Amino acid sequence: MYQRHRTKYLLYTFVFLASTLLLVALFSLYFSDKTASIKAQEMVLAQKYRDLQRKIARKEAEYRRLNDSIDDIKAQIGLQKEHATVDMEALLRKCTPRIQNLLLASIPVGYPSAARRITSRYGFRMHPIYHEERFHHGIDFGGAAGTPIHATQNGIVMFAGFSNGGYGNMVIIAHNFGFSTLYGHMQDDLAVKTGEFVRKGQVIGYLGNSGLSTGPHLHYEIKYLKKSIDPASFLTARKGKRFTALLQNNSTISWQSLIDAVTSSYRKFTSL
Ligand SMILES: [Zn+2]
Repeated sequence: MYQRHRTKYLLYTFVFLASTLLLVALFSLYFSDKTASIKAQEMVLAQKYRDLQRKIARKEAEYRRLNDSIDDIKAQIGLQKEHATVDMEALLRKCTPRIQNLLLASIPVGYPSAARRITSRYGFRMHPIYHEERFHHGIDFGGAAGTPIHATQNGIVMFAGFSNGGYGNMVIIAHNFGFSTLYGHMQDDLAVKTGEFVRKGQVIGYLGNSGLSTGPHLHYEIKYLKKSIDPASFLTARKGKRFTALLQNNSTISWQSLIDAVTSSYRKFTSL
């Protein structure tokens, strides 16, 4: 009797222990599985977060780009209406060599310095410091530090000093008929002062590496009605074929009325 009880007792104990072990094993298996799946989820979330950050950065760049183009479009819309009716061929036929000379003597044309190696053109480009697409409002010329920089037309110095906007030592000259020019990244020995009248060809400063710049270069900008325009055809403009290119490449400018204004003041002057 006693023997049978003992066997039964041992059997119960064994069954109890075995089921406890089984339960413990099942629990630990279940939880280790859970930890692994949580870790996996964490990794997925971290990846999603990184992807979102990248998307945000891309959208921000896109937003900035759109803002720039909207500004340009706004400037163009205001002027485009007047130009839709202008017959470029007829206008060019009216531009006698004398009229061409008069116009070229009134607006900023020619290269601003002997440094003519273009390192960055006007338009969208990958920014050398910010490493993202940005609108470049001028043309960059690489050259030796100290190369003299000249005013590209007669005018008045609106600003000569250090710009916190990234252009370093900078000169802005206002010319006739709504044009202005900007010269950036110069050495600190600027040759002109704010308020000074300058003549075309006059030295206004020297090529440098000031402001946000990765090497000695000149940032040259032409503005028409406070909006930047591509200086390319202004650099090479002269009588003949290049004059035609100047007019055709800058359709936002009211050439017809500008030519009328220039010639009428010339007539007034010559009748004196
Ligand atoms: Zn530049």
